[in-house]
Amino acid sequence: MIVYNFSAGPAVLPKEVLQKAQAEFLNYAGSEMSVMELSHRSSLYDQIIKEAEHLLRELMAIPDNYHVLFLQGGASLQFSIIPLNLAQGKKALYINTGAWSKKAISAAEQVPGVEVEVIATSEDQNFTYVPEVTVDQIDQEAAYVHITTNETIGGVTYDKLPQTGEVPLVADMSSNILANDFKVTDFGLIYAGAQKNLGPSGVTLVIIRDDLLNKEPIFAPMLDFALQAKNRSLYNTPPTYAIYIMKLVLEWVKAQGGVQGMIEKDQAKAQLLYQAIDRSKLFSNPVAINNRSITNIPFVTGDEKLDQLFNKEALVAGFQNLKGHRSVGGMRASLYNAFPYEGVEALVDFMQAFEQKYGG
Ligand code: PLP
Repeated sequence: MIVYNFSAGPAVLPKEVLQKAQAEFLNYAGSEMSVMELSHRSSLYDQIIKEAEHLLRELMAIPDNYHVLFLQGGASLQFSIIPLNLAQGKKALYINTGAWSKKAISAAEQVPGVEVEVIATSEDQNFTYVPEVTVDQIDQEAAYVHITTNETIGGVTYDKLPQTGEVPLVADMSSNILANDFKVTDFGLIYAGAQKNLGPSGVTLVIIRDDLLNKEPIFAPMLDFALQAKNRSLYNTPPTYAIYIMKLVLEWVKAQGGVQGMIEKDQAKAQLLYQAIDRSKLFSNPVAINNRSITNIPFVTGDEKLDQLFNKEALVAGFQNLKGHRSVGGMRASLYNAFPYEGVEALVDFMQAFEQKYGG
C-alpha cells in the first residue's frame, strides 16, 4: 500500500535525502565513521555545518549582516529567549493569529523585565484571518513586533507583511520557511523549528540581524544569541546529525529550483486541495481566501462523527496523520515541500468517494 504522510511535524522528508543519508550512514566521505560519530570540531564536520549555512544563505538570500544560528530547544525555547535577548526593559509587540502566536505571547509574558502588548488579534473570528496592522499602531520605541508567518494549526498565513516602521519584525517561520517569498531583509529575526521544511527535529534555526544581538551577556550562556553567534553555533555540541540532514534537504531544495521552485510546487498542491474543498458540499475550510496557508490545510465536514469516520477510513487507505490538531479536531493536510503532488491527487479522489458515500 502507498502511504502518504500528512504530518504537521515532524514531517515527510524527501526520499532522495533519506536514501543519501542511508548510503552515507556507516561511512561518511570515506572516513569509516558515521556523521553521528564525528567530532563537531573535526574538519569533516566543519565542512558540513559551513555548507548548511552557505546553502541556506544562498537559498534565502541572507545578507552578511545576518547571523545564521543552529540551536536547540525548538521554536518553543525561542518564544522565551527572543524576548530575553531583545526586549529587556522594553515593550515587545505581538500580533495574535492563533494557537502558536498565543504560545509565543504567553511565554514572553513570563520573561522578567519584558512588557508584552498584543497590538492586533483575529480571535474575534476564531483566528480565520490575519488582522490588518498599520504603522501608527506601532510604538516606535518597542523592541520588536512578533508575527507567526504561518499558523500550523489554523492554516492561516500572511499574504503581506505588516508595516512596522523602524521596529524590527520578528517571525516564527516554523511551518512555512522555504515556502514563502518574503525577503529576509524585511525581518530583524526569523526562527524555525526544523522538523517541517528544513529537516528532522532537534535543530532550531535562528537568523538574526547583527545589530539586534544583545549587548549585555545573558545569565545563561546557552540562551545568549551574541555568544552563540560569536561561536558560530559551536559553543557546545550542536545537534550534529540533524544539521547534516538539513544540509541534505537544502541541497535537495536547490536542485528543485530553490525556494521559488518549492513555492510553485506547493501552490499547485494547495490549489488542488482547496478547489476540491470549495467544490464539495460536504467539506469546508473556514480561512479567509487571502490568508489560506499553502502548507497546512485544515478542513471539516461540520459533523464530528463524520470527521471521525473520515479519519478512520483515511488511515485504512494509507493516509497517515490527517487528523486535525487535538485542540480543533477535524482534518488537516500538511503539504510541506517534500510532500508529493500525487498524494494530494489521491486524497482528493478519496474525499470525493467519501462524499458520494456519506454526503447525503
Ligand atoms: N511555532 C509553530 C508555527 C509551530 O508549528 C510549532 C510546532 O509545530 C512550534 C512553533 C513549536 O515548535 P517546537 O516543537 O520546535 O518547539
